[in-house]
Formats: sequence, structure tokens, C-alpha cells
Amino acid sequence: MACKHVLLIGAGALGSGNAEALARAGVGQISIVDRDYVELSNLNRQLLYSENDAELRMPKAIAAHKRLREINSDVTVHPHVLDATPFELKKLAENIDLIIDATDNFETRLAINDISQMYRIPWIYGACAGSYGISFTFLPGATPCLSCLLDSVPLSGATCDAAGIISPAVQMVVAHQSVEALKLLTGNRSALRSTLLTFDLWRNQHFEMDVTVSKKADCPSCGAHASYPYLSREYQTKTAVLCGRNTVQLRPAKRMERNLDELARHLSALDGNVECNPFLVSFSEKDHRMVFFKDGRVLVHGTSDIAEAKSLYHRLLG
Ligand SMILES: [Zn+2]
Repeated sequence: MACKHVLLIGAGALGSGNAEALARAGVGQISIVDRDYVELSNLNRQLLYSENDAELRMPKAIAAHKRLREINSDVTVHPHVLDATPFELKKLAENIDLIIDATDNFETRLAINDISQMYRIPWIYGACAGSYGISFTFLPGATPCLSCLLDSVPLSGATCDAAGIISPAVQMVVAHQSVEALKLLTGNRSALRSTLLTFDLWRNQHFEMDVTVSKKADCPSCGAHASYPYLSREYQTKTAVLCGRNTVQLRPAKRMERNLDELARHLSALDGNVECNPFLVSFSEKDHRMVFFKDGRVLVHGTSDIAEAKSLYHRLLG
């Protein structure tokens, strides 16, 4: 496995567990993509991080890199502090053996699904909510794809749950994802589970569903005339309300590099509190806090209203 390269999308709860399992198993390279930074409220289930990371507001990809290097220095970790947009995913998918989904939203998963089909890279879906979990291993050319399943399988149980996630449910999904990863990376395809797995640890339930019949010949993502609709420009949203966070992410229309020093100077002149690290600038005022990243993104905390987030942003930066 030392020659294998895994692309891990998301470094939250599922991402922490998967990254640690892969690093300890000795996977050669792990590319980690995450758009967020560490906060105290993450620490009950995001096992790679510490209070110090939260204090410093370290981007999760960077904090994960540091921790994984301490765990196994033979593993090469490539941290990416950015949103997993189709544009970024296309670049990141080069020479990747496997993609692991540790995101919290279907927009990104559908983009991962199209990337997987386009480049023929297997991917392992995983999601959690409360005490519930779900996982499936997608193999291009062999299994149905996520787009095929959306119409026939109730996947909506795994939506963002503000009531919170219990850590054992996370660890259970991680166990299922990482064992499938080990099978794939060691060439043991015949050992793969092949079913769609769901469980609820609190209710003592465990189901496995054969979804073979869900594969659609005319699927826009995996059919004979695939058009990969979720990679198109129209599909990419510029704003997103973050899962259970009372936070809106604003993304610039064009990729840009923000000069954080210049921004910090500008914000220091305003009525609010400015804090910086090499990866982001945080600005707090009354009920809101805004966090600006190098890639141009802004997280607006204290609202789930996109219009309000935009107006707060424009009031600061015009
Ligand atoms: Zn399909």
C-alpha cells in the first residue's frame, strides 16, 4: 500500500477517523481537502484535533497533516485548505487510486461521483447523523453510481443533523469505510461488501441492501452516454449554508488569492476584533464572526441566512 494515493474529501469527524486509519495502515500518500478550521465544539468526535488547534483556529487540513506526521512519518500527506469544487476535484484526482467521502453535503458527493466515473476511480461513501450511519463502495463500471441510487434508495436519512452526532456512530462508519479502503488498496476486490449498509446504533438496527438493480443504463453520470452533469459550471453554487453550524460560506465567482496581511490591516481599522494565523484572518463584531481564507472564501458565523451573510460581507469589504 506504500505506493497508493488516497484522496480524502473532508477532515471533520469521518475524515479524522479515515485519515488516521490510513496513516496507521501505511498508505503511501493521502491528500486531504477541507474548507473549515478547528473549533472546540468539534473535539467530541474529530479525533485528530486538540484544544490547541481550536485555540489557534488551525485549518483542519493543516492540523490533520501535523498530527498524521506524528503518527506515521513514512506517510506523505498533502493538505489542501479549500472547497472541494468540481474545478479543484479535477486537479486533485490525478494519479489517485481511491477517493474517500468524508463530506457533509450532497453537492460535493455528486461532484465526487462524477469525478469517479470520469477518471474511473473507486470511491467510498459515508455519512452520519445522530446514531445513524450509512456507507457504500462505488466501483465505476461495476456498481450503480450515486446518481443511480438517488432515485431508488432513501439516502436522505443522512442529512445534516443539528441534534448532533454521537462518536460511536462516526467510528462505525469509519470502520466500514476504512476496511473497504484496505481491501481495494491491497487488490482484494472479491472481499468487498457490495451492499448498501445502514445502521442505527441507538435503536440496535443494522441493514444491508443489494442495490445492483438500481443501476440505470441511461444514467447521466455512469450510463453509456454520460455527461457528468454535476461537474458543469451551472451546478456549482457560490454560497452554502454549513451543516448544523449557523454559518454561511461565500465563495468568490473566480478563483483568487487573498492577501491576508493586507486584509488584516484593513480590518484592524474597523470596530471589531482581528485575529490571524498564516492560513486565515478572523474578524469578530457583536453577534457575528467572519473568517477569511487565502483562496478567497469567507465563513460568516452567526447566521444561516445567505442574504444576511452577503450584506455583512459587503459592509466590511465593499
Ligand atoms: Zn449512475
